[in-house]
Amino acid sequence: MQSTRFFNGIYKNNAKIKCNPRQKFQEQMIGMHRQALNYIVSKDRNNAVRPGCTFCTLDQTHPITPVETHRHFYSDCIHVERYWTSIRNWAHPQHIADYTVRDRIFGKPYENTYSIDNTILREARSTLWKCRLTKTIPNIADLKNRLKRQIPTLLLTQKKIEITLGLKRLIVMAES
Ligand SMILES: [Zn+2]
Repeated sequence: MQSTRFFNGIYKNNAKIKCNPRQKFQEQMIGMHRQALNYIVSKDRNNAVRPGCTFCTLDQTHPITPVETHRHFYSDCIHVERYWTSIRNWAHPQHIADYTVRDRIFGKPYENTYSIDNTILREARSTLWKCRLTKTIPNIADLKNRLKRQIPTLLLTQKKIEITLGLKRLIVMAES
């Protein structure tokens, strides 16, 4: 059962984030399970979009293409699972990036919006969305490039020393 505290964390993370409007919009849609994934878009009868996962359709090894739901797209998809595994391996041993399905979709509600985990999770989600749009299988290099681009901007608005230090550590990790 999701508690009031859990939702308060989700609201806070979405409300507090200072990022570009596109990313903010997508983050809010993910939080509401309304992001325009194929599962949602295909319900509109006025288009020919099929509900199958973009990544699974690309590699064509599945007899039946799994449906692109939020859970599949952000966690269960084999390509996405490999992506999360490569994130964990890349972060190790500096940081333990071991994330549950809920973390992958919503971020960590009890942590600061700009904690190392929430920054990795948010940028990882944005990278997945971008890969979906460009029809490419997600990989760790995309995430590292994105972190290197995003973190300097995030640092401009940070006042808490532990958050600043965390983000600086993360950018060093992204450069390795
Ligand atoms: Zn898939």
